[in-house]
Amino acid sequence: MASPSQAVPNTGMMDRVDTEILIVGGGPAGLSVASTLPEDISAILVHQDRSIGTPVRTSGGCWMRDVSALGIPAEFAHPVNNADIYSDNEHLKLDMSSDPVGVLNVTALYRWLAGQTRADIRCGTKYLETRREGGKLISRLRENRNEYEIASRVIVDASGWHCAVLQSLGLSPPPDRRGIGIEYEFAAPSHDPDRAALFFGSATPTGYGWAFPTTLGSLRLGVGLIEPDSDQSPKALMEGLLASNALERMGLPRPLSFHVNAGILPSVPFTSNLIFDGVIRVGDSANMATPTLGEGIRICIEHGRTLGAALGKDSPKALTQWERIVRRKLALQYRIGFEANRRAAAYTPRDWDRSVARMRTLPPEELLRFFQNDFSARMIAQRGAQSIGRKIGRMLGGR
Ligand SMILES: Cc1cc2nc3c(=O)[nH]c(=O)nc-3n(C[C@H](O)[C@H](O)[C@H](O)COP(=O)(O)OP(=O)(O)OC[C@H]3O[C@@H](n4cnc5c(N)ncnc54)[C@H](O)[C@@H]3O)c2cc1C
Repeated sequence: MASPSQAVPNTGMMDRVDTEILIVGGGPAGLSVASTLPEDISAILVHQDRSIGTPVRTSGGCWMRDVSALGIPAEFAHPVNNADIYSDNEHLKLDMSSDPVGVLNVTALYRWLAGQTRADIRCGTKYLETRREGGKLISRLRENRNEYEIASRVIVDASGWHCAVLQSLGLSPPPDRRGIGIEYEFAAPSHDPDRAALFFGSATPTGYGWAFPTTLGSLRLGVGLIEPDSDQSPKALMEGLLASNALERMGLPRPLSFHVNAGILPSVPFTSNLIFDGVIRVGDSANMATPTLGEGIRICIEHGRTLGAALGKDSPKALTQWERIVRRKLALQYRIGFEANRRAAAYTPRDWDRSVARMRTLPPEELLRFFQNDFSARMIAQRGAQSIGRKIGRMLGGR
């Protein structure tokens, strides 16, 4: 059982609480770190939202094999075997039955992760800043209107694109390139629950759009763009999509009454420096979502869990080994994926027509691997990271 975090008298005006580990952010990364910390390590997780899992800021696309590998209860993911991929004038029907997509019930998943930890989870609590004092990290927090301090040995920055801790300590600037998305979720009883869609081209310059059926029988219709590559707003893109006849062409239902989900993720090159003298970053604050499609949940869970276990060993060696393993898994793959991302973000609707036509010539397994940002050692050895990036950029972007 974790030793309870203790309120200790403070000579200043503010109350101070002592804990070994402070985790900032209650998304999949922070919750996963907390879930594998041993019980004898005290930890506080602060989360600025009022509850875990809402509001939803992601669309929850994943792969069913990862759901199973990560031990996520199957009922949290809706399996999908077919996808239609569209550009303005081209169409590809993709059979994904060899490697089905899953659409996660994000709220249920995050709450399930939260249930796996004995860390003290404090919702409605905003992390403000940190200073170093006598070998400890002293952080200022705000809950309602009250401010207090937490003194910790370690801080995990799992605050997503905010990079709140890194910014406060001047360790890393906020991402200067971001993916921004908006999603309308609505009841869609007439939509085939085994069919997802991705669309590229004039409706979604610099990014892409999606339609994901969910475990709840609804459809998530979304559009995303990259800022500052585009200066439009996702809401304006969505309104443009709804005003056009694109949904009819793609056979997608039109939302009449809907719930809005929206979010931001970094879209910058992966940098493998994850540990900064007691401050560790994981998840989106470390650019861990895939550069190809911006899929981050499974990666946050995997590397969040291994970070929690490494922190439990209380040895700097365990942490540097964790950093080395993450670097080995992601650095080269993400360099290739980012090259493809950068190129694809600049492509025109005509490029996308060429690209979707070219995707039709690929075996489904190969295309799915591209979407997963999974480039085999053989491909890399044969062509080198840069030229694979160019090849994928051409395939996804048409030039
Ligand atoms: C539009 C969109 C669609 C996406 N679609 C998919 C998808 O289909 N599949 C997929 O796998 N991934 C998807 N992603 C990416 C995925 O959502 C992220 O990679 C993942 O959520 C990152 O998890 P995280 O825990 O690092 O950060 P987050 O999920 O961003 O969680 C960080 C939490 O920290 C909290 N926080 C921030 N600052 C503070 C502070 N100062 N004090 C306290 N709390 C703070 C935030 O409120 C936030 O809830 C999508 C992202 C976006 C934006």
